[in-house]
Order: sequence, then structure tokens, then C-alpha cells
Amino acid sequence: MIELKELTKVYGKGSKAATALSGLNLSIQKGEIFGVIGHSGAGKSTLIRCINLLERPTKGEVWVDGVELTSLSQGQLQEKRRKIGMIFQHFNLLSSATVYDNIAFPLRLAGTPKADIERKVKDLLVLVGLEQHRNKYPAQLSGGQKQRVGVARALASDPDVLLCDEATSALDPQTTDSILRLLLDINRKFHLTIVLITHEMHVIQSICDRVAVIHGGGIVEQGEVAEVFLKP
Ligand code: ADP
Ligand code: ADP
Repeated sequence: MIELKELTKVYGKGSKAATALSGLNLSIQKGEIFGVIGHSGAGKSTLIRCINLLERPTKGEVWVDGVELTSLSQGQLQEKRRKIGMIFQHFNLLSSATVYDNIAFPLRLAGTPKADIERKVKDLLVLVGLEQHRNKYPAQLSGGQKQRVGVARALASDPDVLLCDEATSALDPQTTDSILRLLLDINRKFHLTIVLITHEMHVIQSICDRVAVIHGGGIVEQGEVAEVFLKP
């Protein structure tokens, strides 16, 4: 489903150059919840942002569902990105738009007919449990509710993949668990492939099928969560 081949990312040039990823290889299967864990500076954020080319790798290939993204034209890439949803640590919601409008945003961008948008957003509001909050603004919501809006917005274009960039790091433990349960529900219901990066072991252990440990811009260990973390 997702294949990263010899992925290298160097930020900056000359004496200021910083290597974030160096020849990283990773293979993620369709329908699994795959976690990447590592310390701050290990390259997690760069790695996940390379999967939808928010960050362009310096070298290497990014395959998603049989397509190599770095070879696509800008238009083709935009089309492909609609199938790769993303949620963020700080939610990245539009503060001047309501819950409804935040979720509808990607659909309006894509020129979806109004009646279809309405039906879709209503379904998504039910899915994430925010029917009662559709007319509120982000500032009126708790952190967990904001992330539910983020999840609904990410799912609006029926993606095949959901990328989660430290999606629970700004939340308290209880809210974290409720968001993780939501992600698990979505994964089971839609067979959506989920890739998440985190520095928290608890997140990996509660919902991931497989995990990779990233260190110094490379994968140092990977496998089933129980194999990697519960070794004697
Ligand atoms: P993590 O998400 O695991 O904390 P990052 O991918 O953010 O790791 O960073 C990996 C390395 O790349 C770090 O050394 C970081 O300082 C560097 N880095 C990340 N983003 C940039 C940037 N925009 N410019 C320069 N260096 C960067
Ligand atoms: P139905 O076939 O009756 O629409 P589904 O369970 O397939 O039932 O879908 C229920 C709702 O979830 C629909 O609004 C559908 O558009 C939405 N949905 C289906 N697949 C996905 C997906 N991968 N991501 C987000 N929403 C989805």
C-alpha cells in the first residue's frame, strides 16, 4: 500500500545541511494501523510528511497504492492527495469557520455538489459524535472535539490512507484514548490504512498492528507491536 524506498531528506545546504532521513525503507500494508515511534529529532515528522509530499524527499521513492508520487505532475499529485487524509498535533482548523464548514472545506475545494456535501458532512458529524456542535467555532471546542473535527475533515474525501502527525500529543490521557478508539473504529469500519507517528509508547501499544522504531533518520527495528516491545 505504502512503500518508501531509499528515502533521504536533507534540509538546507552546505555547512547548514541537516540530514533528517537517510536511505530509509519502509513498507506498510493495506488496512493496517502502522505506528512509527522515535525520540524528538529522529525524523518522524519528516517521514510522515514525505508520504503525501508535504515534504519533498531529496532522494528516493514514495509509492502509494501503486503510484510513485515524486514522478507525478502537480495536477496528478493534487488528485492523489485527496486520497491521503492527514490529521495534526495542533489540529490545523480554520478558526473563522464553523465545525460544519471546516469539514466541508475539502469538498468545496474539490467542487462537490452542495447536496452531496451536506449528506457527507452530516454522516461525518455522526461518525465523530459532533452532531450537536456543527455550528460552533473551533475556539468553543475542547481539544478532543477539535481533533474529531480534524478526523472528519480528513475523511471527507473518502481517503485510502490517514496520516496522523502526533495527533494525540496535545491531548490529556483520557481524551487521547477516546481519539485512539475513534481511529480504531474508522480503521475497522472502512479498512482505512492508518500511519501514525508518536513519541508515546502507549499510543503504539493501544492501537497499532505493527510498529517501526526510527532513530537518526533510519528504521532500526520493526515488526508486530508485541514482538518489538514485549521481548524478554
Ligand atoms: P521528529 O519529528 O522525529 O522530531 P523531524 O523530522 O522533525 O523529527 O526532524 C528530523 C531532523 O531534521 C532534526 O534534526 C531536525 O532538526 C531537522 N529538521 C526538521 N525540519 C527541518 C527544517 N524545516 N529545516 C531544517 N532542519 C529541519
Ligand atoms: P453506505 O454504503 O450505506 O454509504 P458505508 O458504511 O459504506 O455505508 O458508509 C457510510 C458513510 O461513511 C457514508 O457517508 C460513506 O460516504 C462514508 N465512508 C465510507 N467509506 C469511507 C472512508 N474510507 N472514509 C470516510 N468516510 C467513508
